[in-house]
This record gives sequence, C-alpha cells and structure tokens, in this order.
Amino acid sequence: MIDRLIDTFLHRFTNTGKDNNDNPIPLITTGSIVLGAMLRLALIMIITWWIIDEWMFQQYWIFIAIAIMLFVIYPSFRQYSIFNDRIENLAESTMCGSCKHFDNTGQMCILYDEHISNNSLPCEGQDWELKN
Ligand code: SF4
Repeated sequence: MIDRLIDTFLHRFTNTGKDNNDNPIPLITTGSIVLGAMLRLALIMIITWWIIDEWMFQQYWIFIAIAIMLFVIYPSFRQYSIFNDRIENLAESTMCGSCKHFDNTGQMCILYDEHISNNSLPCEGQDWELKN
C-alpha cells in the first residue's frame, strides 16, 4: 500500500514499464494521476509556505508558481499523455474501444464495473454495443 502510494506520488509506474495493457488491474488511471498531483501539490505548498514564512520571501511568489509548474503540472500532464497513449492502444486492440460501455478514463467496463485489459474482456463480447 505504502509502495503504491509512493509510486503514485512519484508518477513512477509508467516510467518503469510496470503499467501495461496486459495487467488485469491498471496501475495508472486518471484517478491515480490526480491523486499523485494532489500529493505533490500538498508537499510543495507545505515546503514553500515554510520557506516564505521562515525567510520572508513573500515577494518571490513567482518561484512557487514555477515550482508548481515544474513539479506538479508538467509531470502530471506527461503521465496523462502516456496513459492516454496506452489507452488508445488498448482501445485499438480490443473490441471494448468501440463499445459504448467502455470508460477510457478508468480503463473500465461500466456495465460490469471491471477493468479491461488485453487478456480480460468481462463480457467476452456478449454485451458489446456500438459507441455513438
Ligand atoms: S460490454 Fe463488453 S465489449 Fe463493452 S466495454 Fe464491457 S466488456 Fe467491453
């Protein structure tokens, strides 16, 4: 649990190749990216608040904005781009990609409330319905 939280905080799964379309349960989803971004933002706010308070750096607020950009927004955006590419590959390689029950943000089948991977289609094609 702690390991997973640290990996989420560091946005590490994709870079290590641990997360792929063969995993029955995805390590990266939109939710995990948002959680990682919130953890990073909280840490940066605590550190910068302490620095500003300790050394009276109120006039250097621009550095806080730069730190948020470098350590929260950019890594999360990059993680999301990698996640999106992986989901596009999954959608192309499985029939779920064209099904209206496929939720690409969570890599889920909404109908069965289960994750989808290259090796597991919860309905096995029985409930496929064309996406509009
Ligand atoms: S209903 Fe079947 S085809 Fe459609 S998303 Fe769910 S598992 Fe995939």
